[in-house]
Amino acid sequence: MPPASPAPDRPLLAGRHALVTGASSGIGMAVARDLAGAGAAVAVNYRSGQEAAEALVEEIRAAGGRAVALRGDVSSEDEVAALVRSTEEAFGGIDLLVANSGIQKDAPIGEMSLQDWQAVVSVNLTGQFLCCREAIRAFRRGPERPGRARGAIVCMSSVHELIPWAGRVNYAATKGGIRMMMQTLAQEVAAERIRVNAVAPGAIRTPINEEAWGTEEALRKLLRLIPYGRIGEPEDVARAVTWLASDEADYVTGTTLFVDGGMSLYPEFVGNG
Ligand code: NAD
Repeated sequence: MPPASPAPDRPLLAGRHALVTGASSGIGMAVARDLAGAGAAVAVNYRSGQEAAEALVEEIRAAGGRAVALRGDVSSEDEVAALVRSTEEAFGGIDLLVANSGIQKDAPIGEMSLQDWQAVVSVNLTGQFLCCREAIRAFRRGPERPGRARGAIVCMSSVHELIPWAGRVNYAATKGGIRMMMQTLAQEVAAERIRVNAVAPGAIRTPINEEAWGTEEALRKLLRLIPYGRIGEPEDVARAVTWLASDEADYVTGTTLFVDGGMSLYPEFVGNG
């Protein structure tokens, strides 16, 4: 029998313990705030932006929630292991991971240095691999949750797991890689009742892509790619993550949920192309 929906007065993530990487800014910050609002205890990871991470922790605590700020570089094997251990120590366990950290270092192929390629792969793909591996090890140490997933992972992908993106071969390759990593892990650990999914945002108003929305002209150009007619906000992504992490999505694994206002729907074909 599938588990019943939680009673409406019980928050969706009550009693859950989450780690959100890259939560000092943008989408990760909105995700950490939303998970906490849904009742989860949240470890707010940052690499830079300590002040913003600590301010978020204060905000969550002031609202009656549980949170800690944890410094760590997701591309470092030792630091990721320490991050997951510290989350377990802070809350007595971990059963949710949102692998969100990501960077861009754009350049046309002729000018893209090996360093730019490796930097993006290290954070976006190797970083998510390390976080997923350590989280799965920790879920296995944790208790079973009869009738429900013992752990859930949400990987932050992008519409560029699907849409090629000229001048950003490093970024697009990592997002395509995340798709197959997520599906393979989902297949591998499903029998242990661990769920692995991804969210693929379209254009979201955050510091990573400010050149795409920072001026009126840039925004007008961007909106031509978005059938829904508005740029996305970090909260649009956060609500999707909270749902995927929750028991409401108990039968969902190996799926990418696009949160993109229709950006992946070939907008050039609106009006018959
Ligand atoms: P952002 O720049 O605001 O946030 C990125 C976060 O990653 C920051 O908190 C940063 O400190 C963290 N980070 C970078 N390197 C790190 C490292 N080595 N270790 C730990 N943390 C590190 O950008 P954002 O838009 O919020 O991006 C978050 C995720 O969403 C990324 O994976 C990005 O690819 C993805 N995404 C964003 C958009 C968008 O339009 N903004 C669209 C699709 C996907």
